[in-house]
Amino acid sequence: MTKTNFLSISKEQLLQTFIKFYGANESEYIKSQLEDPKIIWYEVVDDPEKITDIWPYITTDIPKEEVEGYLKQKNKYIFLQSAYIDDLGLLVLPNSGNINHIIHEMNHKLSSHIIREKPYAAINGLSIAVETVHGGVVTYNNNLNEVINELMTLDIISWLNIMGENVSPCYSWQSGAFKLIQPFYEHFKEPLKQLYITGNMFDFLREVGEQEFQDFTNFIERKLFIIKIHLRNNKPVTIKEEDVAESQRLTQAMIDYNLRSRK
Ligand SMILES: [Zn+2]
Repeated sequence: MTKTNFLSISKEQLLQTFIKFYGANESEYIKSQLEDPKIIWYEVVDDPEKITDIWPYITTDIPKEEVEGYLKQKNKYIFLQSAYIDDLGLLVLPNSGNINHIIHEMNHKLSSHIIREKPYAAINGLSIAVETVHGGVVTYNNNLNEVINELMTLDIISWLNIMGENVSPCYSWQSGAFKLIQPFYEHFKEPLKQLYITGNMFDFLREVGEQEFQDFTNFIERKLFIIKIHLRNNKPVTIKEEDVAESQRLTQAMIDYNLRSRK
């Protein structure tokens, strides 16, 4: 990892927790992705839109000319919020050292697999991004992937706690949706980890069934979209029992497919 860092724990410890979560077999890949990533550390500000010059708010070991290149390509505000920007291979992390955000974005980096540069196509965990002929990028299953990434983040944080670090997770928009996603996550945790590491969507679909997964994501993406709008408008999120039941039914269809395919 780069010289400048605002981590509250040691880099080695952080890598080890990822290895604990994904398994020792993946340690080479995890190290190749997370040992020395490009990072911009930003200071958390209330009103990023008011900032004209972002330099006082960021710290990085990346050469200045390179960062200036990024600023020409991208809206500068994306460097003032936690992110993994896959086409730049760049982590943007808070200098508060917020461990939730840091693990969450590092997990995005691990699960980012660019398939093609031009036209751009990528698999990021469960999310697929494809550049259209008009140049815009369309993404699928992005919200579901955000919730899965956050559930994984909590699992990785519990490994940190087992290893003696006293860190507690914090609230994120994704936690409002845990109830809908948890049965799916718990049942398919191993194939999901594999998908994150390999980017092999075909293998994953062989586990859950293509049609069954499509039915699940159609339902879930619609629900997550509504949850995000409610949160944006500061409305409380209430998840209906009937939606939890429907999510469970659709998850069961994937479990049944999985059992059938094993016979
Ligand atoms: Zn995310």
